[in-house]
Amino acid sequence: MIPVAFGATAADAEGRPDGKKISPESALKALKSGNLRHRHGKSIRKSYAPKGEALSKGQWPIAAIVGCADSRVHPDEIFDIAPANLFVVRNAGNVIDDDVLGSLEYAVEHLGVELIVTCGHSLCGAVKATEAVVLGGDLPGGHINNLVEKIRPALAALPVGHTLQQAVTANSKQSAQRALNDSEILLEAKLAGKLHVVSATYSLVNKKVYFYNEATVTPV
Ligand SMILES: [Zn+2]
Repeated sequence: MIPVAFGATAADAEGRPDGKKISPESALKALKSGNLRHRHGKSIRKSYAPKGEALSKGQWPIAAIVGCADSRVHPDEIFDIAPANLFVVRNAGNVIDDDVLGSLEYAVEHLGVELIVTCGHSLCGAVKATEAVVLGGDLPGGHINNLVEKIRPALAALPVGHTLQQAVTANSKQSAQRALNDSEILLEAKLAGKLHVVSATYSLVNKKVYFYNEATVTPV
């Protein structure tokens, strides 16, 4: 039995109270169909939580999202999904740090999440700021530098003259890979076949979320 912690309820640790399980494949399908509704202005905020359960009784997220803090990109909105369905961690540049990893580990170990999606977005200011530094500009200063240093390696492998969108995509893929590389708990879940980690980017222009290949375990 998984220990209950951080205010999680017994229902959280033991699975959905209705006994039904949403597979990572079905969860991904739900995210894609929700984004389709969002794109076409047909949002219904569909709920994948057990019917009739009050939010105070627990939460049953079908996925964890690592998204950017940008005020234009709200996961619940872009995936057209109701509260209790997504476990969301956000920061500028959707980077992976220790606190993000702790949150993801909690979602996987205690809430039964089997799908993590790192989701960048077009015209990301954090990635743009990093591009400026890579091109020879000064670091922005303060704690923003921490974000830049986290994003910077993703840009190193890109060809000279790459676009901002290519950098955004590379950064999202990097975050997905880091989630697996930097967390033993997430890596073990992946190796046990209980976790899928996928990267994605959201377009501010056409509102579409583009999904990329699943992150793989890097040989050591
Ligand atoms: Zn951003």
